[in-house]
Amino acid sequence: MRVTFLGVRGSTPAPGADFIRYGGHTSCLAVAPDATARPDLCLDAGTGIRALTGLLAPDAFAGTILISHLHWDHVQGIPFFAGGDRPDSRADMVVPAEGGLSGRDLVARFMSPPSFPITPEGLQGAWSFTAAEPEPFRAEGYEVLPFDVAHKGGRSYGYRVAAGGACLAYVPDHAPAAGVSEAALEAMQGVDALVHDAQFLDYERPRAVDYGHATIDEAIDLAERVGAARLVLFHHGPHRTDEALDKITAEFGSDHVLVAAEGMVLDLP
Ligand SMILES: [Zn+2]
Ligand SMILES: [Zn+2]
Repeated sequence: MRVTFLGVRGSTPAPGADFIRYGGHTSCLAVAPDATARPDLCLDAGTGIRALTGLLAPDAFAGTILISHLHWDHVQGIPFFAGGDRPDSRADMVVPAEGGLSGRDLVARFMSPPSFPITPEGLQGAWSFTAAEPEPFRAEGYEVLPFDVAHKGGRSYGYRVAAGGACLAYVPDHAPAAGVSEAALEAMQGVDALVHDAQFLDYERPRAVDYGHATIDEAIDLAERVGAARLVLFHHGPHRTDEALDKITAEFGSDHVLVAAEGMVLDLP
């Protein structure tokens, strides 16, 4: 399984000279079955999804997009994903079920006038929108397990994704301080890589609790608790400059703890 990091920020994009090396795009990972295949699974659709078009070129996207939750930083790239917004594309989007609404209607709540010029029907190609419960399903060649995690403002999922003996857990927005369920612990158990919320540092802990996010120390504790082979610190605060992230790398980085950067590629065995 090849995982390419296309956007590693939380909250809002962070453009500018101080954000070149780790990148400024919001949350998006592209997943392919191996190093030579085209990505056919996308985790979140923050502004980083624009770069997926280049990875697919000249082909259109044909695959599944798993959305952790519907906050702007995880969905804002949808209508700007040129590789998906073309007549020959197929995109099956999965969002957390909430309030008895259909997947289409949940997406239309943030993508329709006056918030945005088009509705979901305005996307070209064959798009579907599914409101999923936290139950296992198969998408493309992957075994997918969504699981509820504590965050703020609406339902949030983490996803366990497995294929060909490799296993990834993607948990971009998560407040472990609010409690981690047995189901979530089980889903993260023994993964090859845990990509986890690391928006705050220990001294910012009151804000992490207030915003429903994790501190880096909490992410490291959780990775140890579930026996993840590797932890990728993800969803960096938009104020975190390259210099600040270099310091985080120096303090927390190791063979087992990586700091996510745009363009980073992880090949899971
Ligand atoms: Zn977020
Ligand atoms: Zn969020």
